[in-house]
Amino acid sequence: MYTWKITELRFNILSQKLAEQIEKKGKKYGSIYPIPRGGYKLAIALSQALQIPIITNKNLINDSTIIVDDLIDSGKTLSEFPYNDKAVLFVKQNNECKVNYYVQKTDDWVQFPDEKDNEIETDIERILQFIGEDTNREGLIETPKRILKSYEELFSGYKQDPTELLKVFKEGSCKEMVILKNCEFYSTCEHHFLPFYGHISIGYVPNGKVVGISKLARLVDCFSRRLQIQERLVTQIADCIMENLQAKGVMVICEGVHFCMTSRGVRKQNSSMMTSAIRGVFEDDKVRNEFLQLIKM
Ligand code: ZN
Repeated sequence: MYTWKITELRFNILSQKLAEQIEKKGKKYGSIYPIPRGGYKLAIALSQALQIPIITNKNLINDSTIIVDDLIDSGKTLSEFPYNDKAVLFVKQNNECKVNYYVQKTDDWVQFPDEKDNEIETDIERILQFIGEDTNREGLIETPKRILKSYEELFSGYKQDPTELLKVFKEGSCKEMVILKNCEFYSTCEHHFLPFYGHISIGYVPNGKVVGISKLARLVDCFSRRLQIQERLVTQIADCIMENLQAKGVMVICEGVHFCMTSRGVRKQNSSMMTSAIRGVFEDDKVRNEFLQLIKM
């Protein structure tokens, strides 16, 4: 048998039609009782459209309660409520007499949008509609999926434990400054959900424990691939190194270009933002200058 997959958009249009039908009839209902679970989604839509509260407790059903379900098949479930009006989206042929309101007759197998499976995709569809797009347009059909996939990478930092990254260190007698210079980063501004990106330089003076320079680069990724503000990005990196390597000192400098500044708001296309975090021996002018000199080279 053919399965008719109802999209979220279609579902919204149909439930809107049902709400209009109920409103037109002019009868006032005091509450909506959805048949579990098929009626839940429709009940929410009707409740919003008609400003009628939903009840989920059967004992609260009274004469002014309207019973809702997505589809009436045999009509068995609905026959439990002989004294109440009933509204459904679909009726199977010859069952229309059992309900007061319905939108469409069908003998197809109907599959409703599964709230659990495509909830986030649907939310992204709504954002696309909000900006003025037609979500049925060819080029946009796979867009919610693609956006979610890119989020997995852009926000992969949440799945990483920064202390885990610095766990493997070498004991040594190295007392000289170690520098990671101009490491690229790509992050997302937590105020506007827009990208900011640039370069980070890290210097630290070890106190016995050193890590490979690639670990520092991964630390940058770990903190930048989250929702961030540039000020916190540098302090988190500095504090993490101080704590896990018990370094004598750390300095982190970051230069970032923010889309929220360059493409909107004040629209200053050539401005970048500098932030820094200074810990331990870098408070000392001599140490700090050495670092600044070295990252300039
Ligand atoms: Zn911003």
